[in-house]
Amino acid sequence: MNLVIIGGDAAGMSAASRARRIDPEAEIIVLEKTSDVSYSACGMPYNIADPNKEIDELVVRPAKVFREKFSIDLRLGHTVTRIDRENNTVIGIEEQEKQEFKINYDKLLIATGASPIYPDIPGLDKEGISSLKNLQDGRQIKNYLSRNSVSKAVIIGMGYIALEMAEAFRDLDIKVTMVKPRSQILPWMSNQLSETVKKELQENEVELYPGQKINKIERHSQGLNLSCSEVELSCDFVLPATGVSPNSKIALDAGLEAGPGNSIAVDRYMRTTDPNIYAAGDCADAYHVLSGKKTWVPLALWANRGGRAAADNIYGKNLRMQGIASTSVFKVFNLEVAKTGFSYFEAIEHGFDPVEVNISSRSRAHNHPGSKTIQVAMLGDRNTGLLLGAQMLGMEGCAHRINAVAVALHNNMLVEDFWQTDLSYAPPFGPVWDPLLTAANQLSKQL
Ligand SMILES: Cc1cc2nc3c(=O)[nH]c(=O)nc-3n(C[C@H](O)[C@H](O)[C@H](O)COP(=O)(O)OP(=O)(O)OC[C@H]3O[C@@H](n4cnc5c(N)ncnc54)[C@H](O)[C@@H]3O)c2cc1C
Repeated sequence: MNLVIIGGDAAGMSAASRARRIDPEAEIIVLEKTSDVSYSACGMPYNIADPNKEIDELVVRPAKVFREKFSIDLRLGHTVTRIDRENNTVIGIEEQEKQEFKINYDKLLIATGASPIYPDIPGLDKEGISSLKNLQDGRQIKNYLSRNSVSKAVIIGMGYIALEMAEAFRDLDIKVTMVKPRSQILPWMSNQLSETVKKELQENEVELYPGQKINKIERHSQGLNLSCSEVELSCDFVLPATGVSPNSKIALDAGLEAGPGNSIAVDRYMRTTDPNIYAAGDCADAYHVLSGKKTWVPLALWANRGGRAAADNIYGKNLRMQGIASTSVFKVFNLEVAKTGFSYFEAIEHGFDPVEVNISSRSRAHNHPGSKTIQVAMLGDRNTGLLLGAQMLGMEGCAHRINAVAVALHNNMLVEDFWQTDLSYAPPFGPVWDPLLTAANQLSKQL
């Protein structure tokens, strides 16, 4: 069988590697428009924070290894511009010679990921402004910071990549200002938790300007100037980090069905509406494990898992995907911030009647040295008692603790049953009543 994969990062290369393991004889062609494959985008903020590290250290497996060890026909600088479903062909441009190519497929996997959303701000194309999505962006930002005297940066947006980059800039002793039009820092987060994130940013000398429309960016001899609704911000570097949107155009132009947020709709076997075409990763949608409804969550595990599952199913393994709980975790200076399941408003959108409790507990037993505060927001459904999600933050013990809730969500547990789970206890690791159990206890009283 001839398998063609568009996109050579998490989803695409997971699929290619899996396909090779299943079928040593298969013809596997990967078409990647950039010159990078298989790298950890997630590690970029931490790499940028350390001038002694090369950005290419983030490459997990170089192209050479895929070609020589896995016999994968990996073609870099190949941008697919069209899918001709009638003739089972992809058409595109080879960047070096600017030549058109046409390749036939028996099965096609679209793993084109997502692209940054550029807010509509005049002047966003000026020098010294760059978003961070792929390895080339990371390379360019690192080069810019090393070749120019950057003492002040403005970040547009306050999502997790923006927050990770705020920390990276502060590690490099660059002053940071964060600005965005919406008034809430992390709109999905409970107010109590989001206040703690705000305090942490301010304690690390990050200036925050939520609720500011950015009208224009201008470049002067001294640097860049952002004119916002109520404030003028000057800096040497601007990082727009206002989210991503799926790279679904070639799929939707070919008549494949769209999912939420213009992603590519796939079934539980990662198949699009064309039986010969699969999609996985940030470009594709997913089923939420709680509601069974479609959702779009661009995160790394789902991309790796989806790519691998697509390959399994292309080779007839019939692997049915449960879906996602939307679990995520990130670090903001000294805080671990974690989330799984629905936020309050997401729960309403998915047809639930959410009740939320906020509790404060400890990361270690009462008098144990080094114990830190852990805040938990937990949600349940008033009608069914179903556990709907949790958010937590603290200086330790949050990033992995959230996984217990994620597993509960995959198993559609009631809040009452989650409260009865036999979680671990020893003084250095938590109170005898784990913070999650305390939250579940409070929540079950209110349901
Ligand atoms: C700074 C940063 C930090 C992150 N941190 C985390 C984290 O901590 N945890 C987490 O879960 N996730 C994180 N993510 C998200 C994670 O990196 C993505 O979910 C994951 O990379 C998605 O993999 P993918 O293969 O679907 O898409 P991508 O990684 O975007 O790869 C898609 C590939 O397709 C190529 N392509 C696109 N269109 C075409 C075309 N027409 N023809 C040929 N090639 C094409 C692209 O060049 C790209 O190489 C982070 C992302 C960034 C940018």
